[in-house]
Amino acid sequence: MKSSSRKSLLVANWKMNKTPDDTIRYVERLHSKVGQCEAVDVFIAPPFVALDSANRALRWSKIKLAAQDISEFESGAYTGEVSANMLLTIGCHGVIIGHSERRRIFGDSDERVGLKVIRALCDGLFPIICIGETAKEREEGKTEKVLSRQVAGALSGIAEERELFEKSDFALAYEPVWAIGTGKAATPEMAESAHKFIRDRLGETAGKAKADNVRIIYGGSVNSVNSKELLAQENIDGALIGGASLEAMEFMRIIETAPDFAESEVRKS
Ligand code: PEP
Repeated sequence: MKSSSRKSLLVANWKMNKTPDDTIRYVERLHSKVGQCEAVDVFIAPPFVALDSANRALRWSKIKLAAQDISEFESGAYTGEVSANMLLTIGCHGVIIGHSERRRIFGDSDERVGLKVIRALCDGLFPIICIGETAKEREEGKTEKVLSRQVAGALSGIAEERELFEKSDFALAYEPVWAIGTGKAATPEMAESAHKFIRDRLGETAGKAKADNVRIIYGGSVNSVNSKELLAQENIDGALIGGASLEAMEFMRIIETAPDFAESEVRKS
């Protein structure tokens, strides 16, 4: 039995999939199942062009909306970029920052991730910050070093301002790169050990009380078969789900395996 009081956070990262019409159909299906659920936090992260349709379809729903990235800049001559403020105006509550695909394919450095985190927090978006080691880094025994560097980089802008740090609401997503889209999820023990390490690192920077409140979610080949055991771990507070979230009913089945969701269903019956 988990002792933490952190609410589970389940995030569907659709990546570059689904049109606005697909999005409306998906959202209607998901809303009919978990649209009024308050026991856990459910986010969907459609592509930019589908956010507005999703927002309209979610008008009466507790399901929240996240973007998959933001610009580190406030506004101006940055062709192709989307600002935090623009996302807020179309109903986004959160934003995924530093996904390994952004880091690897589009060159998002630790420094840029840190700037995006500050931008999101200053404008009132909830950042879901991705970190995780590659297969090579794990084989070379560098996992903890990489995670420490990524946590420090992502939080560099707020770490020095203790008051801002304490007030900031963000989540970290531990996503080992070798587990993303490969069908090879980390074992619950492996993931728990990385999450515990990340929480301890956070505690050193922000104090134990803050570290105990931050949600650290796991991502990497999560599906409805492996999610229950992963989500039962003490320091795993939810999941960031790519491939398996593309089908609303499979995402729903994963949500159902969150311990706090299951408890709320028992209370209802
Ligand atoms: C992701 O894109 O963040 C992810 C975890 O993908 P998948 O679930 O497909 O491994």
